[in-house]
Amino acid sequence: MPARSPQPPSPDPAAMASALVAWFHTHGRDYPWRRTRDPYAILISEVMLQQTQIPTVLDRGYYARWLAQFPDFTTLAAAEEEQVLKAWEGLGYYRRARNLHRLAREVLAAHGGVFPQDHAAILALPGIGPYTAGAVASFAFDLPRPIVDGNVARVLARVYNDPTPIDSTAGVKTQWERAAALVQATDDPRALNSALMELGQTHCTPSKPACGLCPLRSECRATEPESLPVKQSRQEITAITERVVFLRTAAGVLLEQETGKRRTGLWKLPALPASHEDKLPPVLMRTNYGITRYKVTLWVHDAPAPEAAWPETHRIIAFEQIDSMPMPAPYRRALTGLLKRSEFRLDG
Ligand code: SF4
Repeated sequence: MPARSPQPPSPDPAAMASALVAWFHTHGRDYPWRRTRDPYAILISEVMLQQTQIPTVLDRGYYARWLAQFPDFTTLAAAEEEQVLKAWEGLGYYRRARNLHRLAREVLAAHGGVFPQDHAAILALPGIGPYTAGAVASFAFDLPRPIVDGNVARVLARVYNDPTPIDSTAGVKTQWERAAALVQATDDPRALNSALMELGQTHCTPSKPACGLCPLRSECRATEPESLPVKQSRQEITAITERVVFLRTAAGVLLEQETGKRRTGLWKLPALPASHEDKLPPVLMRTNYGITRYKVTLWVHDAPAPEAAWPETHRIIAFEQIDSMPMPAPYRRALTGLLKRSEFRLDG
């Protein structure tokens, strides 16, 4: 019987942790949230970065502007929701801003304005899941709490050469156990977790991983890294159509305040009344945007003949107030474009 080739040993968490921490202290990138131990500033960065790229948060000034306007839990808790949504405008996924607002009020009410260090207490705060709890605990308080995001899951699936789908129950459990073993194998959890995330962003990228430069190359068991990680579900993109109207009067523009779950409190161009869907008013512009798993074609129509009365959610907003109303980016872009057109300008 031919001899079987021996299985390579499993990666060693202690060796990996030591290599990651050393690599991070030499090569780690400098971000504002890495220069602070303030749990508030770290929390804001983590929540902003959940569905938004670093260049948007940093180079377009969202992070700095937010901290200037709401420097701590107290100022955020005291703000009106409309101010909070306005500061978030352009980042999308507004539930994040609403949760931060609720969280600030909870930190004041239940914790005297001091962010808790107890893991169960952190997890009990609005909008906080295991990833954000681990991030704040490790980055602010140096606690050995794991984090797993898409980047970390990719690195770990490859290091362990594991084809278990990372979005399966078993895969999720295993990734968190592996991340916990790593962070518990170091006395520098802050650097370890930062290194793991950054390695996924810079070296262990979805295609063409830079294995030759990777601090984990001696521990990594991936034989075909680009084939990992495996995912069980592919999200289908659904195309949908949205129709809104543009009504400009001498006093301002008609806007609608949203009441739906996702965008409550935000302002938008009003939906085309259902009574006009059979005979559509003229189109003023068409644009596209994406949200979650939808690709939306947004049609802006000329306002139909005035309704007997617009619903209570609709208001004519004065031109000088429009900029201060929190509004999702697709409507802001459409409205700005329309107001620049000569036929709709005040002096037009
Ligand atoms: S050696 Fe390559 S596949 Fe393995 S963790 Fe590093 S970059 Fe990823």
